[in-house]
Amino acid sequence: MNSSGPRFRFAPSPTGFFHVGGARTALFNWALARSTGGIFVLRIEDTDEARNRPEWTDGILSALEWLGIDVSSPTFEGPYFQSTYADEHLRAAAKLFETGHAYYCEMSPDEIAERAKSEGVMGYNGWSRDLGLEPGPGRVLRFRVPEGSTIVRDQVRGDVEFDHSVIEDFVLVRSNGTPVFNLANVVDDMSMGITNVIRAEEHLPNTPKQQMIWTALDREPPAWGHVPVLVNEQRKKLSKRRDKVALEQYREEGFLADAMVNYLMTLGWSAGDDREILPWDEIVSLFALSDVNLSPAFFDVKKLAAFNGEYIRMMTDVEFVAACDPWLPPEWDRNTFAAIAPHVQPRLVTFSDVSGVVDFIFQEVEFDDSSWEKVMTTEVAGPLLDEAIQRYTDLDDWQADTLKAILEEVMEPFGLKLGKAQAPVRVAVTGRTVGPPLFESLEVLGKETTLSRMQVARGRISA
Ligand code: GLU
Repeated sequence: MNSSGPRFRFAPSPTGFFHVGGARTALFNWALARSTGGIFVLRIEDTDEARNRPEWTDGILSALEWLGIDVSSPTFEGPYFQSTYADEHLRAAAKLFETGHAYYCEMSPDEIAERAKSEGVMGYNGWSRDLGLEPGPGRVLRFRVPEGSTIVRDQVRGDVEFDHSVIEDFVLVRSNGTPVFNLANVVDDMSMGITNVIRAEEHLPNTPKQQMIWTALDREPPAWGHVPVLVNEQRKKLSKRRDKVALEQYREEGFLADAMVNYLMTLGWSAGDDREILPWDEIVSLFALSDVNLSPAFFDVKKLAAFNGEYIRMMTDVEFVAACDPWLPPEWDRNTFAAIAPHVQPRLVTFSDVSGVVDFIFQEVEFDDSSWEKVMTTEVAGPLLDEAIQRYTDLDDWQADTLKAILEEVMEPFGLKLGKAQAPVRVAVTGRTVGPPLFESLEVLGKETTLSRMQVARGRISA
């Protein structure tokens, strides 16, 4: 165990998918581990039977790798599995009992509710504190919350004070002998030498209880940092049912890991100037918890898409063509694609769109009804195509610039601007009104295919 530098950790409870909020928490920890020369510990909190599935752990590891959290680097440690440490959790519980920081209680939830009602209090009011009960079946172990208050020194929020009068003597070990989250989480952090706990804001209410356990076990609590929740457009906390929260889904849709990472790092944090697109190394050197703000961060899928477009545009031609490859049907000719790629790259948002943008080059045209209706039923469409077909037939120098110059001449007598004059040619050749730059597309398609498509469309207009 590296004990000289700070030790951060990411402690997901497996759910079968990797939440974008978890991804952000992991990245914040990773950035800090990197910039401080510390360690990033991965602990899988799998104590819930239902969470104990090996393939879910594989999913977590592969998501971390995708985010650039290099599980084979010396900065990375783990994964550890919480379920394997139950004995340690219970040993800590026994110590808390022996030292008087915890006591057994045999009141059932119903009894507690009844008594609370009759006494007019909220929840459990320490009724078994002084009964001196020994461990036994049906008994839970409760923490004896002392009088006073706990101050959580939070690196994001500053000092947060919790009055103990609103914290009941919480359960550490259930009546079936299993440790609860707060105990297991703290004991693992202790035995893994964790010095910095950076996690989602929703855990803040656990923190005074956890800090009391640290103190009761005679240990210095870690430095805490609770980062703001992610919300959707309606400012509601991101939810699996309502929102697209699975990192895997973005990955499958062709978002770039670099874009995703950069975007996630801007949720609640900024570099302090106007720049949002920043290389990872710079993010690492600039990122500080004290610059993370408190307000909920809007996870804006549109903005993420804009980041992705930016990252796509930053790729070299060669990188771009290579990145598109898995998204193209194997039978499409890669040299042809490479020829059109530079004209697709400036406009592409996600890689899953790429095949739909260039498909007309590789397969028969399918006319989109509404595009046809809008463009090909106008009076000028037929005559303009006739003229263009004639001039293109005579052309030997089949290049985008020349093709454009000719169409500009053709359109003149029709009194059309280029946008309007292009439309019938575009629909004839691609089947729709939008697509990559037209003349470059025609150049890549070649003379023969272009002309034959224009003729087919011309015939269709007459028919
Ligand atoms: N396992 C907890 C969760 O996934 C995280 C606990 C922590 O970070 O302390 O919410």
